[in-house]
Amino acid sequence: MEKKGIGRREMIRSGSAAFAGLFLGQGRPKRARPYVVDAPPESKKHPRHFAVVNVSRERIIRTVVGLRPYRPSGFLVKAEALSGKLLVHNYGHGGGGMTLSWGTAQLAADLVTESGKKGAAAVIGCGVIGLSTARVLQRRGFDVTIYAKDLPPETTSNISGASWFPTSVVDHARRTPAFDSQFERAAHIAHHAYQLLVGDEYGVHWREQYYLSDDTQEDDPRDYRMLRDLFPAQRRLGPREHPFPSRYAVVDNMMFIEPSIYLKALLRDFQAAGGRIRQVAFVEPRQLAALAEPVIANCTGLGARELFSDSELTPIKGQLTALLPQPEVDYAMVTEGLYMFPRRDGIMLGGTFEHGVETLTPDLEAEERILAGHQRIFGGMR
Ligand SMILES: Cc1cc2nc3c(=O)[nH]c(=O)nc-3n(C[C@H](O)[C@H](O)[C@H](O)COP(=O)(O)OP(=O)(O)OC[C@H]3O[C@@H](n4cnc5c(N)ncnc54)[C@H](O)[C@@H]3O)c2cc1C
Repeated sequence: MEKKGIGRREMIRSGSAAFAGLFLGQGRPKRARPYVVDAPPESKKHPRHFAVVNVSRERIIRTVVGLRPYRPSGFLVKAEALSGKLLVHNYGHGGGGMTLSWGTAQLAADLVTESGKKGAAAVIGCGVIGLSTARVLQRRGFDVTIYAKDLPPETTSNISGASWFPTSVVDHARRTPAFDSQFERAAHIAHHAYQLLVGDEYGVHWREQYYLSDDTQEDDPRDYRMLRDLFPAQRRLGPREHPFPSRYAVVDNMMFIEPSIYLKALLRDFQAAGGRIRQVAFVEPRQLAALAEPVIANCTGLGARELFSDSELTPIKGQLTALLPQPEVDYAMVTEGLYMFPRRDGIMLGGTFEHGVETLTPDLEAEERILAGHQRIFGGMR
């Protein structure tokens, strides 16, 4: 799906050698299909039931665009001094900000704790990174004010899909052992934190995700093996073991986050814990130095490019088309260049990853490609 960054495909590939021995399709007696398409299960074996996604132009309810804040060398969590204050950066999460949020929030808060500073903290930014950082600082006893140009539902975080998977977080060629260890720690912290939020209140749910492919999915040495333990039940299915028009499907149990529910819940928790919000746009660091708080967390996402002159930050444009909700669809699907996440607020169809593209205007050709691709897949279910 993604040429650069931590590709979902690369992650899936990581298990393929181990699962090659589990491929059951050959040399075995024929057996009943372990799935049913679009009809409730009747057999005592309770085969997996797959509702078909109804893909048509008439069912489109919106198409949205967001710019992922990508840094080829990976997200930045770093402390520095700013006119006698402690400034901690926490930005540049690319296509994995929802996923990594609690993890890098904790890494950033650790830097604050190490400084010995106490009392009040300012968090700049009210996307998922700002809100998570604000909550972690509150739990550590800080009196926190969020200062942000845009608030939910107007942030990039509101546009995300969002599966718990760190896609397009770093350029493989730029990875360092130091980044990998920070990344591994952040991912594990975040995964654990999200597990505790599963349910309707936060809009976090476990779902099966099917990754479709026609190739043999050889092992890829560049993958993130350190996250394998977070996908313990990954299985590779042969052609007769799944209903999709592809040779293979790799099924994983993954968490999915519904941004509009989730961010609203975080905002509520932040305010319930005494947090304040000020809507303000900063143009230069000098303005931050003038704030009353001795601790400042910079969680401005792509905004850090201008505010802190970080020329490494670059947008990756992403576009999602939402179809009318289908509550009966309870699985996600990913394949080369396409994905489908079912949500309360619609069936979300992606995806585009356009490096360096700055505009928030929807691309109608991309919309058509995404629609046609999903029509091919769901129209071809057997
Ligand atoms: C289509 C799409 C699909 C995605 N899918 C996934 C997914 O499945 N899983 C996943 O983990 N991630 C996904 N992402 C990526 C994820 O959305 C981002 O990594 C994440 O939203 C980044 O969060 P953030 O808080 O850093 O940035 P933002 O949400 O952009 O928040 C930045 C905040 O800083 C404020 N700000 C910026 N500059 C200033 C300034 N100068 N002064 C004051 N305030 C400022 C903004 O107003 C805003 O409040 C997706 C993104 C897109 C676009």
